[in-house]
Amino acid sequence: MDEADLKIPERSPTLRAYLFMDTPIVILGAGPAGMAAAMTLSDAGKNAIVIEKDTQVGGLAKTLLFQEGDDLFRTDIGPHRFFSKNPFLYQFVENILHEQWVEVPRQTRQYIDGKFYAYPIIPLQALKNIGPLRACGMGFSYLKGAAEFGLFKKPIRTFEDYIIRHFGKKLGSFNMLNYTEKIWGIPCAAIHPDWAKQRIKGLNVRSALKNAFKKNNKKQPKSLVDSFFYPQYGTGLIYETIQKKIETRGSTVYTKSTPAQIRHKNGTITEVIIETDRGGSMTVSPAHLVNSIPIQQFISLLHPAAPEEIQHAANQLKWRSQVYLFITFNKPSIMRDNWIYFPDTHIPFGRISEMKNFSADMSPQDKTSLFIEFFVTKGNTLWNMENNALFSLTMDHLEKIGICSRTDVRAYYTFKKSHVYPVYDLTYKTHLETVTSYLDSLTNLYTIGRPGRFKYTNQDHSLEMGIAAAKSILENKKYDLEHAGSEDDYFESGTLAGMQAHTHQ
Ligand SMILES: Cc1cc2nc3c(=O)[nH]c(=O)nc-3n(C[C@H](O)[C@H](O)[C@H](O)COP(=O)(O)OP(=O)(O)OC[C@H]3O[C@@H](n4cnc5c(N)ncnc54)[C@H](O)[C@@H]3O)c2cc1C
Repeated sequence: MDEADLKIPERSPTLRAYLFMDTPIVILGAGPAGMAAAMTLSDAGKNAIVIEKDTQVGGLAKTLLFQEGDDLFRTDIGPHRFFSKNPFLYQFVENILHEQWVEVPRQTRQYIDGKFYAYPIIPLQALKNIGPLRACGMGFSYLKGAAEFGLFKKPIRTFEDYIIRHFGKKLGSFNMLNYTEKIWGIPCAAIHPDWAKQRIKGLNVRSALKNAFKKNNKKQPKSLVDSFFYPQYGTGLIYETIQKKIETRGSTVYTKSTPAQIRHKNGTITEVIIETDRGGSMTVSPAHLVNSIPIQQFISLLHPAAPEEIQHAANQLKWRSQVYLFITFNKPSIMRDNWIYFPDTHIPFGRISEMKNFSADMSPQDKTSLFIEFFVTKGNTLWNMENNALFSLTMDHLEKIGICSRTDVRAYYTFKKSHVYPVYDLTYKTHLETVTSYLDSLTNLYTIGRPGRFKYTNQDHSLEMGIAAAKSILENKKYDLEHAGSEDDYFESGTLAGMQAHTHQ
């Protein structure tokens, strides 16, 4: 590589050092997966170049700041509780945040057919709200589903089948099938049962009732956990702290930067061309490349181009987007919940959250905020709605339900994100396997994270994938990145040591 060919940014002595190091490690995307990889490498004395297109780190788990005069409001992009079955990951975050994260009691409800229901359910309250006749109907429908799929062994082919098997059609339609259709924008009969496995595995009528009657049930499914950990200044604190730590030790995080081309030869990544905001493009020859940007984008950047069937398969993978409304209020509190779900389809949003109920430091003492999430397809009506129309629509519903009033509102902000939820339709698995097996065959490439692996991860899964990628580099053997962060595995194994079982050289 000829130094004269490179435009090396004036303000980046660290990058200059990397460009001429023999073996730089490049990480694409500074979300939880990318930052966990960078942190693990840094802990082992290896520096990396992290390339992030946004202005700040944290990906979907970043925390945004809104300054209103002297008042500072913080919000996650949809509140992020930290929960994991893997004790190693608590230790990982604890080592980063120390006392800056706290255990928060969970208080969540659902609003269905004009009534509030505690979540997890309180059987007597639910029975009172639903009424005995409807409850009996739900009971019979549950037995019918259990007989059909359990006794008569009807195969579970869709998410709808899974719900009918474990809850019955009537209870399913009450708050699960409708909420799921709201999230994905497609019928539950067109959604792969894998989604249930990742989100509500272990949850069924029996476990829900058992949990409701038996407190402190340590084996409860993840959807029912009644406390979680949360960083003092929002979930993004984890990733901002990682950034500070790794930059002090010599790694560089390039924000507002993107890969423009990824060159490969004989099954190895040879060069990455990067557009930075610090002075044009630069070329890096990485010894290792960790990718956590959306899988289709990565495929489209390959040079020479990936085989046609790989490109075709990548283009079949679809994403669901989100629109967000953040409202600040001139009052100290709105509700006692961390969040409330709205499964009814006539209500345009899916969830509202009060960030102050996660950490008091998310709002000034005498003020508070609400974060409202809409599930959308890029380009649809909600995606294109004017800010004031979205605010007005939302307030109409919130006022009618009795949650808050326009007269207390200080300000509101809207923003959007694409590539939020990988759509698990009925064909996604075949296409995904085609793409990931191609990517995993590139020797010095480690594809991780929610966008990178097109996997519905939570933070803990993405952290685990990032750590596994870093371990692969450090130990010179490829860990099974497909199963890192997959609960089917670590539910049982509990620690990263358990991942040894899945390694392949
Ligand atoms: C509304 C909502 C609520 C959630 N709640 C929780 C929760 O309560 N608990 C929990 O654990 N998890 C929660 N999650 C999930 C969590 O946010 C994700 O699992 C996690 O952020 C995934 O991390 P990642 O690094 O895999 O991907 P991402 O967070 O998506 O990070 C990918 C990064 O790559 C960057 N990037 C993309 N394209 C490019 C490019 N071309 N060049 C450079 N950089 C690029 C992105 O800007 C981003 O920073 C929630 C997610 C959402 C949307």
